[in-house]
Amino acid sequence: MEWEAVIGLEVHTQLATKSKIFSGAATAYGAEPNRQACAIDLGLPGVLPVLNAEAVRMAVMLGLAIDATVARRSVFARKNYFYPDLPKGYQISQYELPVVARGHLDILVDGVAKRIGITRAHLEEDAGKSLHEDFHGLSGIDLNRAGTPLLEIVSEPDLRSAQEAVAYLKKLHQLVVWLGICDGNMQEGSFRCDANVSVRPKGQEQFGTRAEIKNVNSFRFVERAIEYEIERQIELIEGGGRVVQETRLYDPDRDETRSMRGKEEANDYRYFPDPDLLPLVIEDSFIEQLRASLPELPQAAFARFVRDYGLPDYDAATLTAERATAGYYEALVAATGGEARLCAKLCANWVMGDLAAALNRAGLPISESPVPAEALAGLLGRVLDGTLSGKLAKEVFGAMWAGEGTADAIIAARGLVQLTDSSAIDTLIDGILAASPKQVEQYRAGQDKLFGFFVGQVMKASKGKANPQQVNERLLARLKG
Ligand code: ADP
Ligand code: MG
Repeated sequence: MEWEAVIGLEVHTQLATKSKIFSGAATAYGAEPNRQACAIDLGLPGVLPVLNAEAVRMAVMLGLAIDATVARRSVFARKNYFYPDLPKGYQISQYELPVVARGHLDILVDGVAKRIGITRAHLEEDAGKSLHEDFHGLSGIDLNRAGTPLLEIVSEPDLRSAQEAVAYLKKLHQLVVWLGICDGNMQEGSFRCDANVSVRPKGQEQFGTRAEIKNVNSFRFVERAIEYEIERQIELIEGGGRVVQETRLYDPDRDETRSMRGKEEANDYRYFPDPDLLPLVIEDSFIEQLRASLPELPQAAFARFVRDYGLPDYDAATLTAERATAGYYEALVAATGGEARLCAKLCANWVMGDLAAALNRAGLPISESPVPAEALAGLLGRVLDGTLSGKLAKEVFGAMWAGEGTADAIIAARGLVQLTDSSAIDTLIDGILAASPKQVEQYRAGQDKLFGFFVGQVMKASKGKANPQQVNERLLARLKG
């Protein structure tokens, strides 16, 4: 029997507001426990929530970016359950009328494009955190996170493999970070996901019973958790068993999912409209204003990079993975100038190559690069005009990174100008050929591989300064003659 997986993701994105969704307490990560929870977050008697307009703005931005419907009127509801990290005894969420509905996101897997439906995105508050370590058999409760604004983005069950699920998740992650509505930090829990997984015989229309894997917070773990769960369900059914609807937990150490609890039904939560909050009414003018201020989206930037800069898909995708990288690249191309396509590809190679490697080693984001785009442009200009070979350019870049000044200053100070004088190069070549009569004889007898040896010797004799292309051309001429 052939099986098909059906997957739908619920992604919790923590909105990058300074204060909480219904109170003025700070949302900054890493504060000492219980220093960032005010009376409203604690649910003390007599307090009233006030909606944070910034959270609404961010939710609408996402709605516009995924081509969804933004509700002109949405409603906050109480989701009732008891847990020690939820002092009010209910979570404020949106249920029947979410702020965003019916959007989509396009993914690309193995060169095949696919549109994934997004059912809804709703605003809600996060709960606190239970701490089980360091309390000698007791549990600690940290309410700093209580009331942090979340946008829960729920996909249609359109995904058919772990690979598609990860592609969707990465696309969504890229988008919310690009829009500036989420910092995207998965380790800190700013972007986490519940994966709903079921299987059905291929060709069957009706869905199977799903299990929900809770709170997976890395791309790799999502992929592995889903793969494990698909296998588990298939084996279970083929062995005569039945999948039960339940909540499961993924354990990365053992690479398996484990049952956590039976799945609650929505009616267990006794949802009802929160009487402390008015319905959220959004005016057309607010939406239009946001639409006009929306940045170019990653998908559009990708297409433009391929079209206008003539970049391969891979380069365009890498350079538009983050908005800051795309911005850096465009500033670099503009400042470097020169023949358009040549310059565009050279700049792409440097941003994805030497610059990315140096940033990676230093653990710096591109926005904090010690070599800003304008400075790197000064270096690449010297590559394009032939002053520097690729090898010398790397050396100059290293010096720029270390803070030794502009490319031109470093070239002058180190005497690094590339040797392009052809008679000087010929002299070097003649010296090498005279010193290696045996290799010359072997080369002429047909050992073509020795050509590389001669190039290496000439480059070495020039201390890496000879123009490699000229060395190649003139060596070939000399060896033929
Ligand atoms: P709940 O809020 O109880 O988790 P929802 O109906 O909102 O339930 O669905 C949550 C997610 O589960 C959605 O992403 C949806 O696409 C997905 N889903 C629903 N049914 C299935 C199924 N049979 N198999 C896999 N995913 C499913
Ligand atoms: Mg759910």
